[in-house]
Amino acid sequence: MKMKIVMLGPPGSGKGTYASRLTKMLGIPHISTGDMVREEIKAQTEIGKKIKEYNDRGELVPDEIIIKLLAERLKKADAKKGFILDGFPRTLRQAEALEKISEIDLVINLNVPDEIIIQRLSNRLICKRCGAIYNRLTLKPKVNGVCDICGGELYQREDDKPEVIRERLKVYKRSTEPLIEYYRRKGLLRDVYCNDLMTPPEVIVERIMGIINNLKNNEGTNQ
Ligand code: ADP
Repeated sequence: MKMKIVMLGPPGSGKGTYASRLTKMLGIPHISTGDMVREEIKAQTEIGKKIKEYNDRGELVPDEIIIKLLAERLKKADAKKGFILDGFPRTLRQAEALEKISEIDLVINLNVPDEIIIQRLSNRLICKRCGAIYNRLTLKPKVNGVCDICGGELYQREDDKPEVIRERLKVYKRSTEPLIEYYRRKGLLRDVYCNDLMTPPEVIVERIMGIINNLKNNEGTNQ
């Protein structure tokens, strides 16, 4: 389905988890700037060296660096038929830059209370090899410490430590929350709520698919 979607929401709201499921259902790429940042750091590129400190402290990477990375990514052929952006834009400047690069069809705003976020992030585990996301409480791997998909080793992200989580939530409220109003005014925003830690991802993904299908159907009748 040709759709350009932005996933908006605080850290730990499930953007990556839902986007990685939606990408398969919709046949469009999942583009996570957080993953891109971690790859640059892991590969110790010039950019990676510049941004490691920000990432480890839970701060945002400077706009010009992340905008450049994203712009390059969206130039690739697979992004022409649509995409799910996860973790971008995170500031008004990024949103304005994105507008110049591509149109957007839909912004999903994930609403999740802080207590749930803290529980989720402090229990989150990531596969070292393929980046799949697990959770010690809610999304356990079949074998402890091992990725179900690729057999890779699971680890806790440097920025999922409690002090850093608090900083990331602060950064979200200060820098990213204003984007909710920005996209609401443009008529692109749809809210999705998750108030229960144990709600399985499939339930939320179904809700998001409902919104997407609705939008497609309405487009059809307007044409
Ligand atoms: P989260 O779980 O906080 O949503 P991400 O994996 O999306 O985490 O991002 C991890 C880190 O990568 C951020 O804390 C930030 O340092 C950096 N980062 C990712 N996307 C952006 C962006 N759009 N702008 C600035 N920094 C970013």
